[in-house]
Amino acid sequence: MQHAVFPGGERIEFRQGPIPRAADGEVLVRVSYTALCGSDNRLWRGGATYTPGHEIFGTVDQPGHARHGERVCIYIVVHCGRCSTCRSGLTQSCSEISELIGWNRDGGFADFVAVPECCLLAVPDEIDDRLAPLLLDTIGTSAHAVRRVAALLPPSAAGRVLVTGAGPVGLGTLIALKDAGYGRIEVNDPSSERMAVVPSFGGVTLDRNDAERFSLIFECSGAHAARNAAIRTVSPGGAIVLVGENSSPWTIEEDPTFRRKDFYLIRSFYFPTAEHGENIRLLQRQKGCLETLIDLETGPANLASHYSEFAAARYLKPLFNPRGRPDVVDNL
Ligand SMILES: [Zn+2]
Ligand SMILES: [Zn+2]
Repeated sequence: MQHAVFPGGERIEFRQGPIPRAADGEVLVRVSYTALCGSDNRLWRGGATYTPGHEIFGTVDQPGHARHGERVCIYIVVHCGRCSTCRSGLTQSCSEISELIGWNRDGGFADFVAVPECCLLAVPDEIDDRLAPLLLDTIGTSAHAVRRVAALLPPSAAGRVLVTGAGPVGLGTLIALKDAGYGRIEVNDPSSERMAVVPSFGGVTLDRNDAERFSLIFECSGAHAARNAAIRTVSPGGAIVLVGENSSPWTIEEDPTFRRKDFYLIRSFYFPTAEHGENIRLLQRQKGCLETLIDLETGPANLASHYSEFAAARYLKPLFNPRGRPDVVDNL
């Protein structure tokens, strides 16, 4: 089969290799689509030991197995299901296993991937193949962040709401907030191309001259400047949710703006497996909006060049199809 290699230096190559063998407790999945994700940029630049790709949708290809033929999304976090963290429902933070598909074991930029059975999330037939990968990072991560906060600041109690970062997770958060009943949602992103699509997802462009405060800020960019701005502009009693990620150290300056107010600072990571059903219903309700996020389908012949364009914010949420034709359909 073919699988991608990220040697570093912003290069992607495809190599032939054997179809992986499913170990005990694992199944083989034939990959239909793996969505590109900004978090892969680190592997694209610095190189990866394993095959990247972690927003995977495919079909179980394990004859004789009870789940053979099932349409599935792959939950990125390998988890034990038995530790106290898993039993509390937070499967994304399992205390026993620290393995992420596409990071420290092979992922979905390949024809096939072997995955533990615990990572199979069933996808009903009504969900279109191309929308299915959005059930992971785009909906799963975003909707989980919104659910975490809705208990503290429900729509009726929330004042101004701001989303910083208008990439797939920021737009996913905007969609999940609208779906949860939050009214006016302001969005900010330094890229004018990204801001141009915000109104079509129901968001309002932030007036940067407006010095008002926000009771709820979802920081989806991971940029330190955006995090620091959130600390300055969150109103007393409000909440900041850190959804975006950044692997370089972040220092909080404990000045009066930070010290002299009550506010929640919440980190939200991925989502518990138990939320998959709610995520499917959200996808069904917001299907029209989510479809417009997928703006490119690419294959092995074009992944390297399309990845460069994706990293330059030319596309929102491209899909990799391992059997994709070289004549790629742009802006589907
Ligand atoms: Zn991702
Ligand atoms: Zn566990």
